[in-house]
Amino acid sequence: MGYFCGSEMENNGTYEIVVGLEVHAQLLTKSKLFCGDSIAYGAEPNTHVSPVTLGHPGTLPKMNRNAIEYAIKMGLACHCEIERHNYFARKNYFYPDLPKGYQVSQHTTPICQGGYVKIKTTAGEKQVRLNRIHMEEDAGKSLHDVDEQYTCIDYNRAGTPLIEMVTEPDIRSSEEAFAYLTEVRKLVRYLGICDGNMEEGSLRCDANISVRKKGETRLGTRVEVKNLNSIRNVKRAIDAEAARLIRILEAGETIRQQTRSFDANTGTTFSIRDKEDADDYRYFADPDLPPFQLQETFIEKIRASIPVLQEERVKKYISELQLTEYDAAVLTEDRVLSDYFEELTRHTPNSKAAANWILGPVKSWMNDTNNEIDAFPLPAAKLAALIQLVDAGKLSFTMASSKLFPELLQAPGKDPEEIATEKNLLQQSDASVLTAAVDAVLEKLADKVAEYKKGKKGLLSLFVGEVMKQTRGKADPKLTNEILLDRLKSK
Ligand code: ADP
Ligand code: MG
Repeated sequence: MGYFCGSEMENNGTYEIVVGLEVHAQLLTKSKLFCGDSIAYGAEPNTHVSPVTLGHPGTLPKMNRNAIEYAIKMGLACHCEIERHNYFARKNYFYPDLPKGYQVSQHTTPICQGGYVKIKTTAGEKQVRLNRIHMEEDAGKSLHDVDEQYTCIDYNRAGTPLIEMVTEPDIRSSEEAFAYLTEVRKLVRYLGICDGNMEEGSLRCDANISVRKKGETRLGTRVEVKNLNSIRNVKRAIDAEAARLIRILEAGETIRQQTRSFDANTGTTFSIRDKEDADDYRYFADPDLPPFQLQETFIEKIRASIPVLQEERVKKYISELQLTEYDAAVLTEDRVLSDYFEELTRHTPNSKAAANWILGPVKSWMNDTNNEIDAFPLPAAKLAALIQLVDAGKLSFTMASSKLFPELLQAPGKDPEEIATEKNLLQQSDASVLTAAVDAVLEKLADKVAEYKKGKKGLLSLFVGEVMKQTRGKADPKLTNEILLDRLKSK
């Protein structure tokens, strides 16, 4: 099944959508790009604002090595060339959220060049080529809704390290844009360089959109859409904007190169400004920041620190653990969850059960408590002990997941078998007890037994169910079946 975006339906397939995405990712360093101020989100306004952040005269910025490592890490994961000779440039412009009057960015030497991100859509696999990944500092935040009359400014964010990833105009549908952003978010989380939270603005996306007649090789005039605060909204904005551009062309009018904003409530875009000539930012090398050279050993050390990524994990789970592709994909969506699963498989030989426990009870716990796996209270060894109890026939999966698991979550330090014994959850596999239960059931349901004997074999499950009821779900199902068949034979 494919997704058909609105514009595709409207244009009967005569137009092609072309999209290039610019993604800003806030790096998860402790401090800012050029000083020790914290980058923590949600602090009281203007509390992380040293004189360096505010650009006071006489202050000197100092580069954050961690931020450079993170940018390189992303570049290596995206198959980019790493620039060895780097410098930072000042991008000069005036805006109230920019206390220094310039933004420190990279100009002619982005730290990562080329490369690609692999995406999967219903149409198959595809590489979205990257133009570059460069480093820069974030601006502060203008707050328009705090005061009736004034715009307030919070400089806490100013100086936060960012990477900006710019794609080539390779994206051909909103579905591809969706897949690209999902992949980028997964990647930054896997690498641990950004929390990927679009709602809090740690991952931001601007979409450059144009349309052209199919078969046309030149690019159409583009529009840049800003303020896209979720992956879903990027998809919606592309569909809405492409449809608008097609309507303009169909009406015989010309498209103006514009910067537009997306209104998530109405699902439409509106113009912020016309982009006339190229902006002139008077870039020059920042005289306060020395150029820096990257050593091979430094880069190789970063390469070695990259964890096994999703694609490889999926392959491994399928070939080595015999999981389905679907299960493998869900288990590897998030690196921490996948790491937990892998630790679990080191404690139990039953990988299929390990996968089922994660995808079932553990994921339900995450949903119900609105938690990530980091907060899951059971160490992998404990969960493995639970799997072992089921595999040993001491407890049914249903009992284990619906009764023992919640008890264990309340007392993660306790031994699962001890709790099972205390709560009387262990399976009844004493043949004499089960035989008595079976006989009682068969006597009570004598008429059903007669029907069974006449050929209504489907009634067996009814008898099993009754025995389960009598034993409050604890009867060993396999043994119960055996005893039942045996007793029915002699009836
Ligand atoms: P700017 O310097 O104005 O930001 P860039 O040349 O860096 O412009 O391009 C920004 C983004 O716009 C890139 O992702 C690029 O692929 C994309 N882009 C450029 N031209 C077009 C176009 N005609 N249609 C769609 N996307 C485009
Ligand atoms: Mg740009």
